[in-house]
Amino acid sequence: MKVSKGNWVIISAVFVFLFFISFVFVYNDYIKVKQDEILTEKYKATTKEIRSDIAHFLEIKEKSTLAIALSLATDEKIRSFILKKKIPQGYYADLIHQYKANTLYQNIWIQIIDRDGISLYRSWTKAKGDDLSGSRAEISKMEKQHKASVAISVGSYDMSIKAMVPLFDHERFIGFIEIISHFNSIAKTFEKEEIDSVVLADKKYAKHLTHPFTKMFVDGYYIANLDAKKSLVKLLSDNKIETFFNKEYRIVDGYLIVAYPLKDTNEKTIGHYLAFKKLSNIESKDLQFFQFRWIVFTLLFFMAIAGVVNIVMYYNMRKQKKYYKNIIDSSSNMIIINNKKNIIDTNKVFFKYFSKYKSLDEFRDENTCVCNFFVDEEGYLSKGTVAYNWLEKVIDHPDEHYKVKMIIEEKIYYFLVNAAVIDREQNHYSVIFADITKEERYKEELEDITIRDSLTGLYNRRFYETQIDEEIYNAKRYEHALSVIMLDIDFFKKVNDEHGHSVGDEVLIYYANLVKESLREADKVCRVGGEEFVIILPYTTKDDAVKIAEKLRVLVEKSKKILPITMSFGVTEYIKGESEDFLYKRADEALYEAKNSGRNRVVVR
Ligand code: GH3
Ligand code: MG
Ligand code: MG
Repeated sequence: MKVSKGNWVIISAVFVFLFFISFVFVYNDYIKVKQDEILTEKYKATTKEIRSDIAHFLEIKEKSTLAIALSLATDEKIRSFILKKKIPQGYYADLIHQYKANTLYQNIWIQIIDRDGISLYRSWTKAKGDDLSGSRAEISKMEKQHKASVAISVGSYDMSIKAMVPLFDHERFIGFIEIISHFNSIAKTFEKEEIDSVVLADKKYAKHLTHPFTKMFVDGYYIANLDAKKSLVKLLSDNKIETFFNKEYRIVDGYLIVAYPLKDTNEKTIGHYLAFKKLSNIESKDLQFFQFRWIVFTLLFFMAIAGVVNIVMYYNMRKQKKYYKNIIDSSSNMIIINNKKNIIDTNKVFFKYFSKYKSLDEFRDENTCVCNFFVDEEGYLSKGTVAYNWLEKVIDHPDEHYKVKMIIEEKIYYFLVNAAVIDREQNHYSVIFADITKEERYKEELEDITIRDSLTGLYNRRFYETQIDEEIYNAKRYEHALSVIMLDIDFFKKVNDEHGHSVGDEVLIYYANLVKESLREADKVCRVGGEEFVIILPYTTKDDAVKIAEKLRVLVEKSKKILPITMSFGVTEYIKGESEDFLYKRADEALYEAKNSGRNRVVVR
C-alpha cells in the first residue's frame, strides 16, 4: 500500500500522541512509587524518633521518681512511724503540694509498706492494712532482695511508674517506701511536639484494677493517661486495637500511630504507649526536594521538546520560505506579497524596476503602497481614494484584465495586474505585475497608424469620420455648439509645378502643423484630401469659428516659410438634427465660395 505524505503526517501525529500519553502514565506511576518510597522512609525515621523519645522520657521519669524515693527514704521519722505501724494521713500532704506547684509531678503518690508486704500508708486514699505480697512482681523482688528499684507496673489503682526504696532499722529490713508517678507528664511533653498519647494497660489487668484511677477503658484495655483524646480512643477501637501493638507503625485517619511496649521489671509487656502524630505535621524535606526536582525536570523536559519542535518548525519554515522565495524569484514578472496595509515581500524583479532601493525596507521607508506609482488615466486601474481599494478590486474580479500605468524613476511602464489570496486569515495576497509596456506601445503605434496621416502626422480622413460622429453625438446630448472649418491651399498645383513635388510636400507638412499648433488641444485637424483639411471645433459657435479661421488665414499668409502661400476657409456650425454629410457639404460649399470669390478668405455658411 502506498501512503501519501498527508497520511504520514497523521500517522506520525497519532504515534507521537500515543507516546506522549504512555509517557505521562508511566511518568506519573514512577513519580507516585518514588514519592511513596520517600514517604515510607520518612515514616520509618519518624517512628524511630518517637520510639526513642518514649524510651528516653520513660527513663527520665523512672530515674527522677527513684530519686524522690531515695531522698524520702533518708527521713528518720518515717522509720519510727513504721515500727509503730502508724503513719499520720497528712504527713506528706505538704510535700506533694510542693511537687505539684513546682515540678512536673502533678500527681505523685506515696505508699509505705512494711516488711511483710502490708500497706501501712497511701497518700491518695485512706485505704490501708491490705497485704500486697505476691500482687506485683517488684514487691516480691523487694521482699527478697531489699534493693532500690524502679519499674512500670499495674496495681489495683493504676498503671504507673513505681520507685521503691527499702528502709532499714539498724540494718534490719523494716519495709519500703514507694513513689508512684504517672504517664501524664510524658504525654504533656509529647503534646508540645504535637504528638498525642494514649497509654494502655494490657487487658489481662482489667480485673486487677479494682479502683481504676482514670476510670477509662477501651476494649478491655485500661487507659492510664487522663488526657487521652476521646477521638483517638475511638480510632483505636474502630481499627482493631491489637493490630497497633505489634506493628512498627500504622497510618490511620491521617495519623502516624506508633506503639511502644511498656515492660515490667521481668521484661514482660504489660501495656503500650501509643503516640499519634498527624501526617500533615510530618514534613519531608526529601519529598519536597524530590517534587521540586521532578517539577523542574518535567518543565525542562517539555521546554526541551518545545524547543526541538520549534527548531524543526523553524527550519521547515525556512526551507519552505526559501522554496517559495525561489519560486517567486524565478518569475519574470514583478511579484509583491501584500496584506491590505503593507508590502510584506517582493521578488527580485521588483528591484529591477525600483532600482533606486536596495531593500524592501528602504522602499517601505518612503512608500506605503506600490499604488503611489499608479498613473490615474482612463483605461487603467487607479489607486482609488481608499487605501488598497485597487487590490480589493483586482481580487474581487479575477476575470477582469486590469492594467496599470506606472511612472517609476521617470520611465513609463504598463502592467497587467493579477492577484491571488495566499492566506485569507492573515489577509496575505500575491499581486503579479506582468510587464506589457512593449505591447502597449506597439498598440499605441498601431492605433496611431490607423488614425494618422503619414505625411503630416495630423489625423486622417478615417479619424475625421469617426470623430465627427462622436462630436455630433456629444453636441446633441450635452447641447453645446460644434463648428467645423474646411481649408484648402490656394493654387497648390502651381507649387508642385514650379518647385517640384517634394517642395510641395514640405510646404504641406509645414503649414499643416502651423495650423494644428495654433489651435486648442480639443480642436482636431484632419487631412481629408491632398491639401484639404477639416478642423473639428467642439464647444465653438459659428462666430468664434470665423474668428479662428480668420486668425489662421492671417497666420498662414504672414508666415511665408518655405514659400509664401495662402489658404481659403469655409466655416459652418452644426445645426441640430442635420447629418454629418450635410454638415460636410455645407462646409465644402463655403470653401468653394471662398475660392470663387478670390481665395485667401473666410466664408461662413
Ligand atoms: P485651388 O485649390 O486654389 O483652386 O487651386 P489648386 O491648384 O490648389 O487646385 P486643387 O486644389 O484642385 O489642386 C490639388 C493639387 O494638390 C493636386 C496635386 O498636384 C496637389 N497635391 C495633392 N496631394 C499632394 C501631395 O501629397 N503632395 C504634393 N506635393 N502635392 C499634392
Ligand atoms: Mg488648392
Ligand atoms: Mg484642393
